[in-house]
Formats: sequence, structure tokens, C-alpha cells
Amino acid sequence: MTGPTHLLVSTTSAIYLGYSSVTELLVVGIASLICDIDRKNSLLGRLIPVLPSFIEGLLGKRTLTHSIPFLLLLAMVVQTINSNWIPLLLIGFISHVILDLFTGSVALLYPYSKKFSIRLLVPPVFIETAVLIGLGVFYAFNWLDLYSRIQL
Ligand SMILES: [Zn+2]
Repeated sequence: MTGPTHLLVSTTSAIYLGYSSVTELLVVGIASLICDIDRKNSLLGRLIPVLPSFIEGLLGKRTLTHSIPFLLLLAMVVQTINSNWIPLLLIGFISHVILDLFTGSVALLYPYSKKFSIRLLVPPVFIETAVLIGLGVFYAFNWLDLYSRIQL
């Protein structure tokens, strides 16, 4: 999945779960993108120097940064910043990993090397397209409700 797809799915999910302030949506958005710091050409990876290239070269894609141990590490960091953000981290991170499970394989239990995936017998690009079409249809019918839930 691409960064914008992760952002749309995670923030829309957060809004319907009751998190709708700009700060909350910002935290969810960052949490949904942080997994992909293992790729230098990802949305967040392009903004961070050196680290994405280092991780991509050393560990590969969808390994440490898509794993449960990494989520626990992030949770410890977020806990020290603001414990109210833990659910926001979970929404962003888990939605990212679930979407990636449909379009590829993820080392959820890294450093254990087994990668997990959910195969739907169609190429990943069709899944990404289906998600975007589904979001478009959802927004077309729910934009007013969605907009009314956001606290600007
Ligand atoms: Zn990813």
C-alpha cells in the first residue's frame, strides 16, 4: 500500500472510533506511516535522511518496522510522551500492518523470519485499487458525516 492509502484508512478509522482532533489525527497519521521508514522512497522515508536506506539495506522491507516488537517499542516511547496516544498508535500501526498483509508479506514476529500474508488470489495492485475505490465511494456517501465529526 502507498502512504496516502495508509493515511486515509487510518485517519478515517480513527474518526469513526471517536478520535477527531487535529492532534489525534496527526498522531494516527504518523503512526500509520512510521512502519514504512524501512523504505527510502516511502512518504515518511523521503523526509528522514539516512535511516530508511540503512534499514532497507540491512533488514529489508516489512521486517522490524512492521513487527509486534517494534510496536511495543513505539508504545513505550509514546507512553513517555502522552499515554492518551497509545490507542492512536494502535489504530495507525495496526491498520498499516493489516493493509500490508493483503498486498505483501510481513515479518510480524521479527526477528523470527517467517513472514505472514493474506492472499486474495488477485494481484496486490488490484487490492490497493479496490481499497481506494471503496474509500472514494465511502467518502461520497459519508463526507458530511465525516466532516461533522472532525474537530477543527
Ligand atoms: Zn508497510
